[in-house]
Amino acid sequence: MTLRVNMAEMTWTAYRDRISKGSPVLLPVGALEQHGPHMAMGVDHLVPAAICREVAQGLDGIVAPAIAYGYKSQPRMGGGNDFPGTTSLDAAHLVGIIRDVICELARHGARRIAVVNGHYENMMFTIEAVDLALRDLRRDGIDDVTLVRCEYWDYTRTATLNAVFPDGFPGWALEHAAVFETSLMLHLHPDMVQMDLVPDEPPASFPPHDTHPLPPGRVPPSGVLSPARTATAEKGRFLFENQVSDLLAALRAEFRL
Ligand code: ZN
Ligand code: MN
Repeated sequence: MTLRVNMAEMTWTAYRDRISKGSPVLLPVGALEQHGPHMAMGVDHLVPAAICREVAQGLDGIVAPAIAYGYKSQPRMGGGNDFPGTTSLDAAHLVGIIRDVICELARHGARRIAVVNGHYENMMFTIEAVDLALRDLRRDGIDDVTLVRCEYWDYTRTATLNAVFPDGFPGWALEHAAVFETSLMLHLHPDMVQMDLVPDEPPASFPPHDTHPLPPGRVPPSGVLSPARTATAEKGRFLFENQVSDLLAALRAEFRL
């Protein structure tokens, strides 16, 4: 039997043996959120899950099932919560789920854990979940967990960004359902992207504040915040390979593997 990477496909005995030998466990965290009329709604968990699977192969690691729901989509970075299908959690629930999963992993012996986030709005809540989980674990006498928490896009090198965005990078918040994510999905899940449905709209433009209730017309009706037309599978492969190799190197160093 080949060495499995996905925790859900492993037997409990195989899992126990792997973590007792120090195998890291990677936990992708994402969202279920509209990503334009041209792309599936699972982007924010499908992409980090794919990165985690590839990275785990290089670490003898295990990938826990992704947390596929995230914190509420915000208009200026994800189009907002009004698009049908954008199905979000209250912050306390998201924090609770991640905290519980980290504690369970550690209680059964995992001592190297990585939380890999793929949804911008989750950032501070993953930090809170990690903090509370490590506090719980310390109180239970478990104080030897090494935990890495990150956003996968932060492993994108400047040279890679310059190559993918020759006309200038719009910034991570506006890169929603646009060239970056669409390219990654064309590489990883081409069956979930329809390039003929990419909208032809100018980049969204937002004031630096939020207004409640959201004024009509502020979010582009398609839900795409920057033009996605120039996305290609080749750019996606380039981004993916860069992110996998840099996250792998980072985890090797932090986990001393
Ligand atoms: Zn996204
Ligand atoms: Mn998102």
